[in-house]
Amino acid sequence: MSTESCRLDLAELERPALEAALDARGHHRFHAGQIFRWLYHRGVTDPAAMTDLSRDLRTALANGFTLSTPEVVQREKSVDGTEKFLLRLADGRTIESVFIPDTPSMTFCISTQVGCAMACAFCLTGKMGLVRNVTAGEIVGQVRVLVDALNMRDTRFNIVLMGMGEPLHNYDQTMKALRILVDENGFAMSPRRITLSTVGLLAALEKLAKEPVMPNLAISLHAPTDRLRGELVPINKKYGVSDIIDVCQRFPLKRRSRITFEYVLLAGVNDRPEDARRLAKLLAGVKSKVNLIPLNAAAGIPFERPSDEAIDRFAQILADHRLTVSVRKSRGRDIRAACGQLIVEGQKKSAGQQLAVMI
Ligand code: SAH
Repeated sequence: MSTESCRLDLAELERPALEAALDARGHHRFHAGQIFRWLYHRGVTDPAAMTDLSRDLRTALANGFTLSTPEVVQREKSVDGTEKFLLRLADGRTIESVFIPDTPSMTFCISTQVGCAMACAFCLTGKMGLVRNVTAGEIVGQVRVLVDALNMRDTRFNIVLMGMGEPLHNYDQTMKALRILVDENGFAMSPRRITLSTVGLLAALEKLAKEPVMPNLAISLHAPTDRLRGELVPINKKYGVSDIIDVCQRFPLKRRSRITFEYVLLAGVNDRPEDARRLAKLLAGVKSKVNLIPLNAAAGIPFERPSDEAIDRFAQILADHRLTVSVRKSRGRDIRAACGQLIVEGQKKSAGQQLAVMI
């Protein structure tokens, strides 16, 4: 084996793993915290510049470890300030990450997979199929790159795992990334500033309920009945609406926190008054809030965005049933950075095939 292949990638190590690696090489474990602070607090990636480490340790880091960082290949800015980053990973695959300013906070929308296997009927990423999982280092790497590129080292930001991919279909790497993001020597983020959005993979949700690091949860529901949801979100044939609501009812929530239910509004499909009434009934016993997402239309997506009146009417029915409702403002549509519009050409696979494998 060459020395190159024995090198550990610092980006892929949680702090306990880095402590163990240092220990195995005859260095003190506590240096892991210092190295983390260089990487994540200060954004310094060259061991030679980590001046509070001994010369020996700096040399050992330079010779015994690598550090992969996604490379920015393209950056596009929307008229509304939203910026989309096309990032190249170590194996040449590409993903997109989006910066959404002033929502009112600063938000990074991060990808957890190259493509996605879920094949939701209205989502462009779903058309790609799943190419591969994004590693924990690459998930955190997107945050490192955006912080640097946007000069945001001293600015607070939120993270939404709503980019390409289904985070719970890449469970272990997503959780590992969350642990690095919340590590006090890592990005030191509060889990409350991180939102994980999922179609609702049941077994993974049950597992998430027991995690020590608990992000906010958003469920992509999109329909109140199995018949309708089955048409829009294929995985619903495996995990139905009542299963999801049942897990959500049992999900351990911190005081005053609630589960967000995302609902893409599609004209004439799921935006009728009776759909709103059914949705209200379904969520009656859940600590919830509803986020309506008027469809971001795109070529190849066989649906239309409802009229503003239909959107208002739908929201009003939910509000009349005492649900908290918000309507997501579409951001970055002119640069195809809005929800469901992230797609990277040239690495498509058959979505149908991928989903068959999963189920
Ligand atoms: N796989 C995860 C996260 C990715 S997408 C999930 O499904 O939750 C984040 C949100 O954007 C999801 O609610 C998704 O359903 C929604 N979305 C996908 N395509 C969209 C489109 N064309 N218009 C509006 N929202 C879309």
